[in-house]
Amino acid sequence: MTDYGHNLSFGTFITPANERPQDAVELASLTEQSGLDLVTFQDHPYQPAFLDTWTLLSWVAAKTTTVHLSGNVINLPLRPPAVLARAAASLDLLSGGRFELGLGAGAFWEAIEAMGGPRRTPGQGVDALEEAIEIIRAIWDPAGGHAVNLDGEHYRIHGAKPGPEPAHDVSIWLGAVKPRMLGLTGRKADGWLPSLPYFTLADLDRGNEIIDEAAVAAGRDAREVRRLINIQGTFGSTNQGFLKGPPGQWVEELLPFVLERGFSTFILMVDEPRAIEIYGAEVAPALREAVAAERDRAGTTSGEVVRSPKALALRREGIDYEVLPASLRVGAIEPGDRGYRKVCSTYFRAGSPGLVLAPERAEQLGDALAFAREQQVPLSIRSGGHGISGRSTNDGGIVIDVGKLNEIVVLDAESGRIRLGPGARWGDVAQALAPHGLAMSSGDYGDVGVGGLATAGGIGLLVRKHGLTIDHVVAAEILLADGTTVRASAERNAELFWALRGAGANFGIVTAFELEAYRLSDVVFADMTFEAGDLAQLLERWGQIVEEAPRELTSFLSASARSARVLSVYASEDTNAAVDALTPLLGIATVIDQQAGLAPYAALIPPHGNQHRGSSTPPLISNGFAEHFTPVISRRLASGLRSGVGSLLSIRSVGGAVNDIAPNATAYAHRHQNFNISSLAYGVPDRDFHGYWDELRTHLDGLYPSFETDLRPERLYDAFPEPTLSRLRELKARYDPDNVFNQNFAIPQIDSERRRPALV
Ligand SMILES: Cc1cc2nc3c(=O)[nH]c(=O)nc-3n(C[C@H](O)[C@H](O)[C@H](O)COP(=O)(O)OP(=O)(O)OC[C@H]3O[C@@H](n4cnc5c(N)ncnc54)[C@H](O)[C@@H]3O)c2cc1C
Repeated sequence: MTDYGHNLSFGTFITPANERPQDAVELASLTEQSGLDLVTFQDHPYQPAFLDTWTLLSWVAAKTTTVHLSGNVINLPLRPPAVLARAAASLDLLSGGRFELGLGAGAFWEAIEAMGGPRRTPGQGVDALEEAIEIIRAIWDPAGGHAVNLDGEHYRIHGAKPGPEPAHDVSIWLGAVKPRMLGLTGRKADGWLPSLPYFTLADLDRGNEIIDEAAVAAGRDAREVRRLINIQGTFGSTNQGFLKGPPGQWVEELLPFVLERGFSTFILMVDEPRAIEIYGAEVAPALREAVAAERDRAGTTSGEVVRSPKALALRREGIDYEVLPASLRVGAIEPGDRGYRKVCSTYFRAGSPGLVLAPERAEQLGDALAFAREQQVPLSIRSGGHGISGRSTNDGGIVIDVGKLNEIVVLDAESGRIRLGPGARWGDVAQALAPHGLAMSSGDYGDVGVGGLATAGGIGLLVRKHGLTIDHVVAAEILLADGTTVRASAERNAELFWALRGAGANFGIVTAFELEAYRLSDVVFADMTFEAGDLAQLLERWGQIVEEAPRELTSFLSASARSARVLSVYASEDTNAAVDALTPLLGIATVIDQQAGLAPYAALIPPHGNQHRGSSTPPLISNGFAEHFTPVISRRLASGLRSGVGSLLSIRSVGGAVNDIAPNATAYAHRHQNFNISSLAYGVPDRDFHGYWDELRTHLDGLYPSFETDLRPERLYDAFPEPTLSRLRELKARYDPDNVFNQNFAIPQIDSERRRPALV
């Protein structure tokens, strides 16, 4: 007899009768309006008097906004588990993370058989359910990256592709009655969902015992299994028996179910609107209050995140998990948690952090940073997770992930003033600005995060016409190493504002950016593919044409040893001018393929929302700037591709508006070059790649920190040529003297002996 300490929730169980199909929908909406948390429907797909529960759930999800939804419980034998998993994940995605999966092994076998389903004994039903849970969880886990295979007795799955991943960690609740199924609930499920009318109190206690024992035997904590219960009753002014009377009586009678039997979700079987209203207005809040008072008296806590002994064993040295502030516990992800795989890696790099903190509000970041500073492990900051140089994951350390701070607000459509959270993705930003006729050039990929790019530069598809992204940042709010949050702009903290635009990763966690977006019509884009026979010549020709082109033209070239692709954008809807600017490009080599057209800018960088898989052997990437494509640079790049030392070459035009800004106006000082050249190599020894680039660099001029994996100290001087570096060192000493933010081109402390940066 125990209280498992879960937060309370309250729901309804509504008959999915088809006689007046909208009745069930209206009762579901009323459930939400009455402040309840959950709406559920029984699922009897052989019952002609009922609507199909899955269809009803989908319809209700579309008609509501906050209430969670579940079958109570879904009939497994008539719903193949792999399809069920996808349907559940889809509904969870469409409803914004509001779906939970109540599941049952099946009953009414004759009716199931009549519908073409299997007939199973009770034992077979439990076995099938266990197999199904395994399949469902595997389908929900595309981060695992493996095809789903199961050679079960009831289900055989071979090579099913996992996904989609649900929007949240969907709970699996089992409608268990008999000991074997209760045992399965303890071993594998997230909740037990019995119906009180069919159980005696002694049955409930015995059920809890079996679940607890099975959970512990499986290496779990019994508190990992939520106890939900379907209840029945009527409201009246006098006590007419158990749950038949005034709301106060209900509260008194349900209280022991929480404190002595561990139930925390109460689902009222009801089709009567007034009862739903009373339940929401009078029973739920009063029972919550009574439970809170009792728990206070007993000195126990509510809503603690519970981890199994197995999960706790995966905690990493150097992090004192027990002192993590309560405000950060919900949403904190550890190595043993189900959501870990989703957050441990970044776009290129596999990671294994000991703790990922993902606050929902900027105000929580202060606690996260203070906690992280106390721990003896590396600290990484992550926004979109596309960092190349920046280590936004680590091994055994802490990641502060600001991905949930992803607001995109148009503050003033007239002036183009916008406010962006660091976790927003540039593809989403482009789509949100488009209806206002606004745009902001970022990069060539819609999934890149605002935080990493807007602190470093932003070499995007409109860069020659409109400059870098940082050139349009007018203010930023930043949490500093000492825990204070300041606003930096030309008027306030102007030096910090200077540093944030180019070396922002060194000074704190930017929690919001304000930028001035610009008006943009549709643009002309052209996508051309060429044979790369004489690549050196192709590069030189392309470079010369781009340099001479009007600044409306921005052109990005990527090349492998075999072919080159040129993606160009003419930042205007003047198609004649665009044709004039683009046509010369067709002469740089033999054309394999080409297409061009008018398109909204947002269509060029769509968000993909792909999972970050990363690799334990990420590619090597290096870059440098060049003013012109000289024959020697072109030849070196071509021979690097041919020899395989750089397997992919990526060249972005800069210049134009970028070079209108003075080199000392921001910490990004590269204001006279016309090209950024980067190459990427997989499986090439560091020594060879660095050797190749060391030689190439003697012909190059500067470096963009966002495209660099070479961590040797010299790169810092390339990225921040003097006097930029000295100015940054002074600011680093002022704003981050303890070098807390040291994972991305960390500016070293001043070594006064040599007056040279002491290298990190
Ligand atoms: C596929 C791909 C395409 C790209 N294309 C372009 C391009 O066309 N043009 C271009 O300019 N860049 C491009 N980049 C580089 C990209 O801009 C940088 O890697 C950028 O840092 C990614 O930002 P993020 O928020 O997604 O990264 P994250 O991995 O989240 O962060 C990278 C680093 O930035 C710092 N950082 C992140 N958030 C904050 C914050 N809120 N406050 C302070 N510091 C922070 C941290 O040091 C972190 O390690 C591309 C990268 C990839 C992977």
